[in-house]
Amino acid sequence: MEAAPRHDDADDAGEVARAFEGCPSETAEAGRAGVGLLDVDICGPSIPLLLGVTAGQVVSSQYGWNPVKNKDGVAVMSVQFLLNHPDAPDVFWGRLDVLIIDTPPGTSDEHLTVLAALKATQDARPDGAVIVTTPQEVSLLTIRKELKFCKKMGLPVLGLVENMSGFVCPCCNEVTEIFKTGGGEALAREYGVPLLGRVPIDPRVSQCGESGTSILDHPDAPATPAFATIAAALLS
Ligand SMILES: [Zn+2]
Repeated sequence: MEAAPRHDDADDAGEVARAFEGCPSETAEAGRAGVGLLDVDICGPSIPLLLGVTAGQVVSSQYGWNPVKNKDGVAVMSVQFLLNHPDAPDVFWGRLDVLIIDTPPGTSDEHLTVLAALKATQDARPDGAVIVTTPQEVSLLTIRKELKFCKKMGLPVLGLVENMSGFVCPCCNEVTEIFKTGGGEALAREYGVPLLGRVPIDPRVSQCGESGTSILDHPDAPATPAFATIAAALLS
């Protein structure tokens, strides 16, 4: 695995490899040139489905395996593509503005491996982790562990995203708080990290995921500005 290799002509500040951990807002950034998404969830690689590239075939070049581009131009590499190529290849990302690394929940081997690989890769400078929580206390307990993990590993936390933050009625778009509210906000305050945004449960988000399309195509959905706000905060 190789994280966003820099190229000889890449001294401009625009080419920074950012490791966004567990960030669901990848399609919100699709309008930009050069976004890569690395799916390191070995047990449940879901990124190819979410990005609409399940039929994608990785092709090898002299530099390594080329990622699969989705219709919005996001370069995707997933363990799922490599099941028939178990020889742990390098990935040739080309020029990227942003590399998002989607990791499974918790603090498993994948997280340690990714951080070790980034450390071993010259010029890979992770900006930090985006941690996704839900408002319930049971999730906040896991998230506390992740925040401590990041601190221990010296990985900055770019912010928290509160997922499942209320439910959007499919009939009238009204958002109902079905869980305890304010959990993500309180945790962000406690750890001194920004709350990047709150994404409500919106049936259109899961429909988009199943069909590999973007929630940004539904500007009237309350979840859409939530994703856009999070992406804008990360890119600012
Ligand atoms: Zn309603």
